[in-house]
Parts: sequence; structure tokens; C-alpha cells
Amino acid sequence: MKYKGLVAGSLAFGAFLLGNVAANAQNYKTLHEKAIVVDTHNDVLISVLEGLDIAKDLTGKTHSDLARFKKGGVDVQIFSVWSDETYGMGRGFNFAKLQIDTLNAIAARNPDKMVVVKTPEELLKTVKLKKMAAMIGVEGGHMIEDNLSYLDELYNRGARYMTLTWNNSTSWASSAKDEAEGTVPNAKKGLNDFGRQVVQRMNELGMMVDLSHVGEQTFWDAIQTTTKPVIVSHSCVHGINPHFRNLNDEQIKAVGKNGGVIHLNFFSGFLDPAFEKRQKAFMTRHQAEIDSLRQLNKSRDEIAVWAANAYPQEAADLRPPLALLLDHLDHIVKLVGVDHVGLGSDFDGITSTPKQLDSVADMPLITKELLARGYSKKDIEKILGGNFLRLFRENSKVQKS
Ligand SMILES: [Zn+2]
Repeated sequence: MKYKGLVAGSLAFGAFLLGNVAANAQNYKTLHEKAIVVDTHNDVLISVLEGLDIAKDLTGKTHSDLARFKKGGVDVQIFSVWSDETYGMGRGFNFAKLQIDTLNAIAARNPDKMVVVKTPEELLKTVKLKKMAAMIGVEGGHMIEDNLSYLDELYNRGARYMTLTWNNSTSWASSAKDEAEGTVPNAKKGLNDFGRQVVQRMNELGMMVDLSHVGEQTFWDAIQTTTKPVIVSHSCVHGINPHFRNLNDEQIKAVGKNGGVIHLNFFSGFLDPAFEKRQKAFMTRHQAEIDSLRQLNKSRDEIAVWAANAYPQEAADLRPPLALLLDHLDHIVKLVGVDHVGLGSDFDGITSTPKQLDSVADMPLITKELLARGYSKKDIEKILGGNFLRLFRENSKVQKS
């Protein structure tokens, strides 16, 4: 009898456990669905310019398309308007406008799925209609070509943040890459007078000052100059991976004090200090093939796709676990609290993501991990989008000039 009772008891306990797992699965999906989910950085516009249509199923070609945004529960997506240093004077501004026109054209062709929004009110209205609110973020201060009227025009066309630099420095702000590699002289580090005017003008307009990609000196100069909370749209934690694109603890504390929000990048190379070493070993093992692909002018992205197809297990082993992204998040929360962290995937701008995060469709798994780590429903809603909404509102409160 006793034995039977034990079996029955353990069976009942097993059923209870299974029931709990099912309830949790339901919880995270419902919570993710109900929350306003914001991703502050996606680079798919460049692929659209190259001819891809995100209204079609692009699985296997990109991280993003409209159906997968929907599946991932992404309510607000900031699309990056990006160019490299070859788009400087005479070219950068026009290329930025072309990308904005491209986003507007996608929205015009898909009015039932997405709307380009410029204000917090338009954002909330769009999300209520169950459409994706698309926003514009300019990545690289060189695209204003040292001209404040170009900054105004980009704002008028909908740009709501601008990274003061991309990897290249401008004449008025030094980049993280240049500062880290020592290619900018000490006297030229940080913001000059014009750089401070750019920050002030962004504050006046209500365009968020984005400190991803900027050098440490530029970061401190901008934090001292801005009168509004800043955005860090796609960076990670230097304390976990000392990469020049990541923020150190003093910078994280400064963003917290400023009321800003750091949105975590999903790139394996920013998350995982060992990723580069594993990637180099992979490349050494397959050097001959990679050289041939390069000689055929294959891009970095195409080579990454080739690697995933040719050596699926090895390519999978390069990726860090999803838990590492959550470790970066925990680090920021421990330092400055839950009000200063969000998500800025960098999907379609990066070649490797943590395991399980294959595309924008997998965003709900982050909510699942947050629940598993004991974050409350209220905190999860802040991380997924509430913090960004606060930041957007604060920056939108402007005295018209
Ligand atoms: Zn970037």
C-alpha cells in the first residue's frame, strides 16, 4: 500500500510539475503578447535597398520580415538609416533621405501591417490597431555633413535618434573604434564646439541623442551637454566583454543618473568575450574555402550564411547561449536598476546571434528567460518597451523654436 501510495503520489507530483511548465509557457506568451515590445535597432533597410522585399518570407536570407516581426510580437521597430564613412560630404545626407523614402514606401505598400510614426501618441495609436509602429534612427553623425539644417530636415522626415558617430569619427565627434585604436589624437577626442551644438539642437528638436558607437570621451562630453535622457540603441556591457562597443560600469551609472536607457545588442561578438577566438579558429580550419569565397567578392553576411550551411554543427557551436544576453541585462539592472535597460537587437546588421535567437520571430524567448530569472511582470514590461516609451516621451517634450 505504502509503495502504491508513493507511486500515485509521485505521478500526481509529476502531473503538477507538467502543469506548471504548461502554465509558465502560457504566461510568457501572454505577457509578451500584451506588453509593448520595442526593438531600438534593426538594419534590414540596407537589404531592402539591395532589392529584398520584407513583405515576403525572407527566412534563411535575413533576420527580419513583416511576418516574422508579427510572430516575434515586435510592436515598435526602429529602423536604422546607416552608411559608412564613404558616404561623407555630398553623399551622406542624400543616402539617408533615400533610406527614409524606402521605409515610407514599404509602409505605403503595407498599410495594414505597419505605420511610420513620429510621436509617442502616434506610436500608441498604431500599437492599439495591432500594427507595427516603425521609427527611424540615423546611425552615423557624418550623414548631416556638418550642417545643422540637415539635422533639422532629418528630424522633420521622422528621424528620432542619431548616433553621434558610427565606427568612423566625424569632424566634431570621435568614435569608439577610433578612440580604442588610437587613430584619433588626444586633442581631437570627444565633442568640439560644433559637436556640442549638434547635441543641443537634438535636444531642442526632440531627437534622442544616441551614444552607441561613440568614443568614451565623446560619451562624457555628450552626457555633460545634453539636457535630455540619452539612448544607447545597440550596445552591451564592457564589464562582461571588454569590447570598445560596450559600456563600462561608470558609463552605465552615468546613463542611469541621466535617466537614459541602454538597449542590448544581440551580436555574439559584443556579448561573448570568447566568441572572436572561436570564430578565428573556425576561419583557420576553413581558410582555403573562405579565401575562395572572398575572391568571388562574397560579403561578410554571405560568408556567414555559407558557414551555417556548410558546417552547421561547427557554426552552431560558435554561438553563445541565450543566457549570456540575460547576464548582460542582469549586470545593468544590478548597477542602476530595471528602469535603464531595453532591447536593441541589431538584427540584420550582425552575423551571429545567441543560440535560439535566430530571428526577430524569437523575441518571446527573451520574455521567457526574464520570467525564469524571477523578474516581475511590471519589470518585464519596462524592459520590453516601457523604458523606451518613457525616454521617447521625455525627449518629445520640447519648447518649439
Ligand atoms: Zn551599429
